[in-house]
Amino acid sequence: MSVDLEAFREKIFKYALVNAVKYNGKAKVEPVASKFLGEHRELRSRAREVIALVEKIVEEVNSLTLVDQKRILEERFPELLVEEKPREREFKLPPLPNADKYSTIITRYAPNPDFVLHFGQARAIYLSHDYARMYRGVFILRFEDTDPRIKKPRIDFYDAIREDLIWLGCRWDREYIQSRRLEIYYDIARKLIEIGGAYVCVCEPDKFRSFIRSSKPCPCRDLAVEDHMERLDRMLEGVYKEGETVLRVKTDLSHPNPSVRDWVALRIINTKLHRHPIVGDKYNVWPTYNFAAGIDDHLMGVTHIIRGKEFLVGVEKQLYMYRWLGWGYPECIHYGKWLMIGSGTMSKSKMLRDLQLGLYKSWDDPRLPTLAALRRRGIQPEAIHRMVLELGVKMSEVRFSWENLYAHNRRIIDPIARRFFYVEDPIKLKVRSIPLNEVIAKIPFHPDKEDMGYRETRIKVKDGEIELYISRRDYDILALDRVVRLIGLFNVKPVSLSGDSVEAVWHSRAYEEAAKLKARLIHWVPVEDIVPIRVVMPDASESIGYGENLCRTIALGEVIQFERFGFARFDSKLPDGTMIFYYTHD
Ligand SMILES: [Zn+2]
Repeated sequence: MSVDLEAFREKIFKYALVNAVKYNGKAKVEPVASKFLGEHRELRSRAREVIALVEKIVEEVNSLTLVDQKRILEERFPELLVEEKPREREFKLPPLPNADKYSTIITRYAPNPDFVLHFGQARAIYLSHDYARMYRGVFILRFEDTDPRIKKPRIDFYDAIREDLIWLGCRWDREYIQSRRLEIYYDIARKLIEIGGAYVCVCEPDKFRSFIRSSKPCPCRDLAVEDHMERLDRMLEGVYKEGETVLRVKTDLSHPNPSVRDWVALRIINTKLHRHPIVGDKYNVWPTYNFAAGIDDHLMGVTHIIRGKEFLVGVEKQLYMYRWLGWGYPECIHYGKWLMIGSGTMSKSKMLRDLQLGLYKSWDDPRLPTLAALRRRGIQPEAIHRMVLELGVKMSEVRFSWENLYAHNRRIIDPIARRFFYVEDPIKLKVRSIPLNEVIAKIPFHPDKEDMGYRETRIKVKDGEIELYISRRDYDILALDRVVRLIGLFNVKPVSLSGDSVEAVWHSRAYEEAAKLKARLIHWVPVEDIVPIRVVMPDASESIGYGENLCRTIALGEVIQFERFGFARFDSKLPDGTMIFYYTHD
């Protein structure tokens, strides 16, 4: 049973009224119909009936005076008079725990510059940043670069990370680099030894493990404070080699998790072999993640730490150090993992390995979930932001899909992206018997926004003929003698399909004619006025074709929509004029 269109009368009336008030009392059929059909895609097959109804209602509305139109709008649809606000504050963060205990809320984001940031990390960044802003506090950026051997930092990643944060809109108030703070960690190490909270262990790792597994102290643990001070000095002087000695923080030897028992705080890394990108081979003694981060959170006055719950074991280790030193541990929010639905990885080490293997050309390859790749593809930072806020700070694991991110992004770019014609894998179409000297197509840059203007294409007709390109995909749906509409132009009837070209004859001009015949609508570009285009797809394959000449007006970095193809971002231009786009989503 088909829907009775009369049921939509009220809604169409509302749209007609808004349109009339906007245009000085005179509503137009086309924008009202296209707005309605945009919301009711299921009725597109009945466009003719819809348009007929819209015509009737528009006439009715236009017979009212502007004053009456405004009054009815105010009385019946007051919600439409409220200015449309951006939806960004749709999702609100819950208050921070114990926020009133602190005069200034201080949060931090602490990446290791061993790779660029990826999508999964945006969560900790936005939450830490937003909470600092919500409480007019301080947001710290801290580079945790104290492992020049395994999680080796790279000099270009420091700047790449800064660039990522700026792109996300998360400006930081203070910045620290841990590799410049090693003396601070050495001082805390001395203090811990002094108060009996740490010791320098020279046991072979296997031997130490056998003691610790049976909850027994190793022979080093109970030596005098002076002995450990001396060992630490020798460690710092470079007497020991890599792996020969470590500083351990004393814990409960019967802690249920053996990895927590007397955990390693300082270790030796041979920086002659593993040079650090910032301090070179100046230091050979390096703090572990938990030692440096734990000290910094305290010294930098961090009040709230927001991070994934995989850091919970680290908290247990750090708590021993905090107790020895009489420090209070910051408030923590640990959230659950993002589970990725579908293909791809969020593993930094896997991405880095694949990059080194040459599977990707660069870290902004469209197949990677790095922020640089998303940026290149035209994903807007606000889309990522909305998604982070939507998923919130729940402890439970949340499922996340690319479609979800795309939906957020589509809502942002769809109302502002200009539309263009692009024919992929072009096929030549010759149209004969055109009863005109010239044809003109006038198509809006945006179907719902007349104020964005129109693009006009004029094609000279020679001996009743013009030549166009259409896409292979559209070619495949053509059938002999079945009329199709060339969007914005006229209707044609194919008379010969050769496999790599088409001949058609003029049928009629009006859109209504095409609607009556249920003609398919297809895209085209004039043969003599084209722009060569390549679109890099999310799987790194390339779509190749021609764009209409007005594609030349697209600005570098602009996100546009190739109609019936998808959104794309203009990335670069080849010397021969070919425009390179990156596909965003459909
Ligand atoms: Zn030992």
